[in-house]
Amino acid sequence: MYDLIIIGGGPAGITAGIYAARKKLNTLLISKDFVGQTGSAFEVENYTGFKEIRGLELMKKFKEHLEKFEISICEFEDVEEIKKINSIRDKSLNSANSFFEVKTDEKKYLAEAIIVASGGSSKPMGVLGEKKFLGKGVSYCVTCDETIVEGKIVAVIGGGNVGLEAGLELAGFCSRVYILEYASKVTGDEILQQKIKSDKKISVITNADVKEIKGDNFVKKIVYENRKSKKISQLAVDGIFVEIGAAPAVNFAKNLVELNDNGEIKINPRTCATKTDGLFASGDVTDVRDKQIITACGEGAKSALSAYEYLKKLK
Ligand SMILES: Cc1cc2nc3c(=O)[nH]c(=O)nc-3n(C[C@H](O)[C@H](O)[C@H](O)COP(=O)(O)OP(=O)(O)OC[C@H]3O[C@@H](n4cnc5c(N)ncnc54)[C@H](O)[C@@H]3O)c2cc1C
Repeated sequence: MYDLIIIGGGPAGITAGIYAARKKLNTLLISKDFVGQTGSAFEVENYTGFKEIRGLELMKKFKEHLEKFEISICEFEDVEEIKKINSIRDKSLNSANSFFEVKTDEKKYLAEAIIVASGGSSKPMGVLGEKKFLGKGVSYCVTCDETIVEGKIVAVIGGGNVGLEAGLELAGFCSRVYILEYASKVTGDEILQQKIKSDKKISVITNADVKEIKGDNFVKKIVYENRKSKKISQLAVDGIFVEIGAAPAVNFAKNLVELNDNGEIKINPRTCATKTDGLFASGDVTDVRDKQIITACGEGAKSALSAYEYLKKLK
């Protein structure tokens, strides 16, 4: 029986792990990987202490920091379900009246408290041709696939921070980059908007409602409707990068938490507590407004300190 199981090896989970280990909690961290979404960030310029750093490099530093502490780690395991089990206090298990069972694709683990820090994964657009051309020109990860489109024409779908960053990164490789934004203006940070404006290779198309992706063996065209004029247009492109946000990875815990309309876990913003006693959540999987590396780290720390207070009261 662990004191605490943390699910997720992104910035939130790793920081929660560091805080839990420093509080001497007997902690297990389970994650499918230790790169999270940050691993796909080409260049991070807003994590304090690093003027600029590759996302993968930052995650390597986070993991090294975690490994300095005494903490059990299960890498490459996929959590499938969490159950809360009510029991009579069992001295041999050293457990409280209730505990949690975490089932992965390999094993079952028990703990008195849980932190869900499972972040999210890219949202698909759900348009015709998107599934068909996945891996054949359609991608959800610029860092992974940018070399395939070197010297070619690409479209980025989404004008938020991640979309604008993707556009700038691709402009370093591609001959032309179109950024298609559904709203009437892009929403990314002003500093990114300025960089986009001054890059001659990038064109922004607003009010664009993507309808279809066409091609033969590989992507050839993207079809979109102008939401105001209703005019349908086509762009000849060799690659399409979908950057319209992330869907929270919450399936395995959804019976124990309350979700908002975006499918994010509702938490108490002071403590990261969820509706289930002993189950905390932090980072992008929650309804926290600003989804960034630094905020995920802060929320991860907060959730571990709250779990510590909860466990102290049980003993
Ligand atoms: C392309 C891109 C660029 C970005 N650029 C920046 C930037 O420049 N600056 C910035 O501040 N933010 C940036 N972000 C946002 C930032 O990456 C996220 O806010 C941050 O990674 C959230 O951290 P997290 O720990 O909550 O979740 P994640 O990073 O998503 O980590 C979640 C972890 O949980 C694991 N997991 C999920 N489900 C399970 C399961 N069932 N079982 C086991 N493990 C599981 C995942 O494998 C992953 O390791 C960017 C995001 C993207 C996609």
